[in-house]
Amino acid sequence: MNFETLAVHAGQPPDPTTGAVMTPIYQTSTYAQTRMGEAAYDYARTVNPTRNALQDCIAALEGGAHGLAFSSGMAATDTVLRLLKPGDHLLASNDVYGGTFRIFTKVYADYGITFSFVEMSDLDAVRNGIQPNTRMIWVETPTNPLLKIADIAAISSLKGAARLVVDNTFATPYLQKPLALGADIVVHSTTKYLNGHSDVVGGAIIVNNEADFTRLKFLQNAVGAVPAPLDCFLVLRGLKTLPVRMERHCSNGLTIAQFLEGHAAVERVIYPGLCSHPDHAVAAKQMCAFGGMISFIVKGGPDAARRVAEATRIFALAESLGGVESLIEVPAAMTHMSVANSPLAVDPALIRLSVGIENVNDLIDDLRQALA
Ligand code: PLP
Repeated sequence: MNFETLAVHAGQPPDPTTGAVMTPIYQTSTYAQTRMGEAAYDYARTVNPTRNALQDCIAALEGGAHGLAFSSGMAATDTVLRLLKPGDHLLASNDVYGGTFRIFTKVYADYGITFSFVEMSDLDAVRNGIQPNTRMIWVETPTNPLLKIADIAAISSLKGAARLVVDNTFATPYLQKPLALGADIVVHSTTKYLNGHSDVVGGAIIVNNEADFTRLKFLQNAVGAVPAPLDCFLVLRGLKTLPVRMERHCSNGLTIAQFLEGHAAVERVIYPGLCSHPDHAVAAKQMCAFGGMISFIVKGGPDAARRVAEATRIFALAESLGGVESLIEVPAAMTHMSVANSPLAVDPALIRLSVGIENVNDLIDDLRQALA
């Protein structure tokens, strides 16, 4: 089946008990058992039918064998990091989501795991960054917030014994399929595009390798950061429209990036779909379109960035991304405060847009008045 059909149906046959066409919200913590220890469903941290449907749907969309759902993107990230042991090294992009940098350096660094950060768009830097004890390579592409692009297939050919993990939150499987490009594990903040309506915090892991799946599933239950049934239902509902939403995010994103690139008050626009993006060719090779995230630097420094971000009327000044509504933020002062004073610190004049699915002319009018 094609992506659009999987998005509506994968993992969601009519409910076996009632025929309900929409997967019910199995709001229960436990299940009655007829024979002790033999039930497929015993306790809801371990297994829940609404969560199963979500996991199967996300796995199908990523082209993976197995999916696991979590209560946040960070819970998914945390669970993947638990595959590492003291003494292991993780090589990461030098531009990752601030919370990912924080869990690496302020949580797992205390458990004997070492981290280093390289420019993932530079394959020599990746090659030189791999150490004998590198057990994981962590890639965001496009990155948050600089929208840097890493060549997943090329990095996969360098990874040796390390697992290649791709955070596919910005691209979504509609635009990019990391497992098919050679990644071992995909993680998501389902909070963003997969749910798409800014009303859930959630995460997911998708994996092909059976041994990794067994361990990650064990950890999902043992550690327990599972999503609530209602949240699973909402993400499932969001997934049904992922392809149509992404089409609009991408067309609005490209039009707005072109508008900003021609605006006198803008110093630089970063959008993987523009020819001016240094890795546009790699993005075009591994993505089928370029998404709804745009970063740009305004003339006039941090004060000007703050004024613009506070002056929009349709773009809400808010953290997060990937919803149907447009958002604007200044990463250095908002989403990426946890990388302040680190080598990953973000230019305080950088503005990040999450372009929604509204009418593009209204969005351009809004940016034009804010930039004025
Ligand atoms: N990965 C990326 C790329 C993100 O942007 C975020 C959050 O913004 C996360 C992971 C963490 O996800 P969550 O906020 O759902 O825990």
